[in-house]
Amino acid sequence: MDEHRYFDVVNERYILSQALLKAMASIARNTEPEIVLQAICDSITSSKRIKLAWMAMGELNATSIQPEYIVGPAANYIEQFNLQQNSATELKSLNQAIQSWKTSTTNIDPQDTALGFGLRSVISLPVGQKNGMLAGIIMLYSDMPAYFEQVGTSFFSAFIHLANSSLEQCTLLSELTHLASHDLLTGILNRRGIQECMERELSRSIRKNLPFSILLFDIDRFKLVNDLLGHKEGDSVLKAVADAIEQMMRIEDYFGRWGGEEFICVMPELNHHNAMQIAERMRQHIKGTPIESSSSTLNVTASFGVASYPEDGENIDKLIASVDAALYQAKRTGRNKIVSSSAIKQDIYTIGNELDSALRDNRIVPAYQKIVDIRTGEIVAEETRARLITPNGQMIYANQFIDAAHQLQLLHEIDKNIILQAFSHCITQQNTGHNNINCFLNISADLLHHRTLVDEMLSTAKTHCQSVSGPTGQNRHMVIKISERELLTDINTVLELLTPFIDFGCKLALDDFGSGYSSYKYLADLPVSFIKIDGDLIKRVHEPKIHAIIQGIQDTARQLEITTLAEFIEDKSTETILKNIGINWGQGYYYGEPEIHYH
Ligand code: GH3
Ligand code: MG
Ligand code: MG
Repeated sequence: MDEHRYFDVVNERYILSQALLKAMASIARNTEPEIVLQAICDSITSSKRIKLAWMAMGELNATSIQPEYIVGPAANYIEQFNLQQNSATELKSLNQAIQSWKTSTTNIDPQDTALGFGLRSVISLPVGQKNGMLAGIIMLYSDMPAYFEQVGTSFFSAFIHLANSSLEQCTLLSELTHLASHDLLTGILNRRGIQECMERELSRSIRKNLPFSILLFDIDRFKLVNDLLGHKEGDSVLKAVADAIEQMMRIEDYFGRWGGEEFICVMPELNHHNAMQIAERMRQHIKGTPIESSSSTLNVTASFGVASYPEDGENIDKLIASVDAALYQAKRTGRNKIVSSSAIKQDIYTIGNELDSALRDNRIVPAYQKIVDIRTGEIVAEETRARLITPNGQMIYANQFIDAAHQLQLLHEIDKNIILQAFSHCITQQNTGHNNINCFLNISADLLHHRTLVDEMLSTAKTHCQSVSGPTGQNRHMVIKISERELLTDINTVLELLTPFIDFGCKLALDDFGSGYSSYKYLADLPVSFIKIDGDLIKRVHEPKIHAIIQGIQDTARQLEITTLAEFIEDKSTETILKNIGINWGQGYYYGEPEIHYH
């Protein structure tokens, strides 16, 4: 005990200051709360007077605390730690620290077991905010009685200040990490977050030779929810659907927002058969859960695609392509249903072969659907629709092969074929005196991105036009129709992609107008001559709200000197309403179905 008489406080404080600096340096590189507290224990035991340091985190209750990290020459005192049996004085100090959330020091009582390990005094240092998440405690033991008071408890508080500010940074950092991988609206994983989980889980499944399934679903007709109730209500619907599905997930599953109103479930160790069953339960759950909005109760449905490893491929890209194709098919064949990737594969394989040979034999042909001036009833334009003629003369509609063509990356070939045929059709029309008919051509983003093909195609068309009818500006009557769906890229890129057509003299029509919420911006930024109003709206023009929406579109278009075109006109009464609204042109079965012209 004599050595304590010559205890050099100044030197001890110097040692502790050095330890504090050391702790700072090692904490700076760490982001885990545990590591922060461990680093403090490590550095503080560089003082020879401190024989033991330990820390614990989480729920703090003096009688049940279990040390998580122990360091110092007297570490074996803690080895079979049981606070009740070990020391009443420690318990007192700990209790005091936890309850008052303040540093508390005590000398070890003469009868305590700690004494046998050369420990004489103890300090309990609570860490973190009182009601914060990261609460913990650091306990330090000295071989000198009243050591902590002699050095000054503020020295030890300095370590705790350091720990607290590091813990705050840890929290901040984990919040930022969370933000980067989660969706703000629904709170579930965002695309990036779920993609990471998918990569990780798929590799694990492959390693362990286990199945793995993904399930992609998209809310049906969601645009209408936005159009009718507004974007804010639309957001609440998204949140409600996400909440409902999240509750159905197993603990080992992941759930994320893949895009707008598309969600994805990642299900490790689940085979295709079981995944299909789960998808069915989810589909029924969404259908059967009414969503309360501020003005009404809504029932929504969703369409599902399901794909699995190993059947559909061994990497995420392949699985996503399969599940996407399955979802597409579910939409195309009626919505509120589930399609398995296995059903698609067969389909795509057959259609793929069929498409290849049809392109080779020029059996992809345009059918033309009339567009009339609603006011005069006069035919003012035609729109091309692709058709596939089978070797035995059967006609296949575009909606039966376009998705497959999209997946097989054949869309640009189909577009090119149709466009060139439409050009020669136009020339024939002109030669027979119908020289004021506009020709609407559907252009896919796939074609726009094949720049060389576009240039080749347009130069062929130009030569063709000039050789037949001279440079009469034939191309003024060509209108290329692009869909907002296809324009999901920034406006400058879109403009650049469209330039060859615009330079050629083609006019521009915006398709599916009124189906998304950014369409008006395209009107401002693109040289649009026509807008084609979404068929889903036209079908419901009898409803007052939809009527008002269409009227609004018409008024805007008139001011911008844009011609409006309404599709899906199937009867006289729809035509009359549209005529009163002022819609310029119309198209639909009321005027005629698409027809193939055989020249
Ligand atoms: P379907 O899927 O049945 O083919 O029809 P849909 O009406 O759902 O059509 P689509 O998937 O093409 O359109 C999705 C719409 O979702 C377009 C956009 O207006 C809307 N949307 C996307 N993200 C959000 C969002 O965060 N909030 C809201 N309110 N709407 C969104
Ligand atoms: Mg949808
Ligand atoms: Mg969608």
